[in-house]
Amino acid sequence: MLCQAASCMAVKVAVLDPEKECPASSLAYRHVVGSFRDVNAVREFAKQCDVLTVEIEHVDVEALDELEKEGVDIEPKPSTIRIIQDKYLQKVHFKRHGVALADFKEVTNFEDAEEAGNTFGYPLMIKSRCLAYDGRGNAVAHNKEDLHKAVSSLGGFERGLYAEKWAPFVKELSVMVVRGRDGALLCFPTVETAHKDNICHTVEAPAQIRKDISDAAVMLAREAVGSLQGAGVFGVELFLLADGQVLLNEVAPRPHNSGHYTIEACYTSQFEQHLRAVLGLPLGDPAMKVRSAIMYNLLGEDEGDAGLTILQNKMRKALSIPGATVHWYGKSEIKRKRKMGHITLVGEDPLLVRTKMQEIIGNESPSSW
Ligand code: ADP
Ligand code: MG
Repeated sequence: MLCQAASCMAVKVAVLDPEKECPASSLAYRHVVGSFRDVNAVREFAKQCDVLTVEIEHVDVEALDELEKEGVDIEPKPSTIRIIQDKYLQKVHFKRHGVALADFKEVTNFEDAEEAGNTFGYPLMIKSRCLAYDGRGNAVAHNKEDLHKAVSSLGGFERGLYAEKWAPFVKELSVMVVRGRDGALLCFPTVETAHKDNICHTVEAPAQIRKDISDAAVMLAREAVGSLQGAGVFGVELFLLADGQVLLNEVAPRPHNSGHYTIEACYTSQFEQHLRAVLGLPLGDPAMKVRSAIMYNLLGEDEGDAGLTILQNKMRKALSIPGATVHWYGKSEIKRKRKMGHITLVGEDPLLVRTKMQEIIGNESPSSW
């Protein structure tokens, strides 16, 4: 999607990805087959680029640090990627900067974990510090006896874990923030994200919430991104509590699933915005150019042809609905819970947009609609 945005301005994007037939390979100006976790591959790749940026935070940050010292232009800064790729360090960083978030504690053995349970209560969230995505680094312990199961499901303490106090949220919100090379910060509207099995399922923009809460979410997102270094877009995930308080969940230093709706719904998409930011071009207008948008993730529900048929039926329905756009990523294999594409629906009436999305996704619609 970054390559698609780049093509409008004839910006040439080279992509480093280990998979020969990766989704970007047919869209990128150049695709280098290699691992973004391999120092030498990253170094060789960087030689071909004017600016280096990331679309995933699980990269070799030591390599980026070295390259930065050698004068390679990297945005956002490796220091930011280092903080964000370790969720525990991320929490420490934001706490130090006074950003509101749930209490947390590093846990390196069962004594620590039990202490966290005593202090924070249950349910208790145990999280993997690194390499987590789509909930695949989280485990919930409902009581003290559950701790063993939770820890072992994450691969044990060796993996690097921390405990987080349960956030009894009524909604999950998200704000995309963009920072230019000159430090200017702009925010996209506050959206509501709904998750299924910890994976982002639908995104509704703007979030149907009180304006003061939506403003508070934007303020918190600004504050969080303001404490990090470098240009680019950042996805800020937030929890809204029953009393109206907004807490930070986590920040992604890149275009984010909760910002995919911006392609059809905003004057400047998150992808174009990211390019403009890292290239030092003037930033675009993040405001919505339609009143309402809903994005639905096409997640693998089965494997092989059976899985393909299920998603094709949904896409076929979407293609017959005015205002709907289908994105199919062309990933080589369908797997359960894998993000295979998404559908965005835009319109002028939020209720009508919900109704039309319901025609596509039926009983999968969030219960709050
Ligand atoms: P990921 O990297 O997989 O997105 P997150 O830390 O964002 O991991 O967690 C995924 C989901 O798990 C969140 O979107 C939220 O629904 C739930 N979750 C995460 N942390 C907490 C918490 N402290 N309390 C309650 N639910 C949580
Ligand atoms: Mg998350």
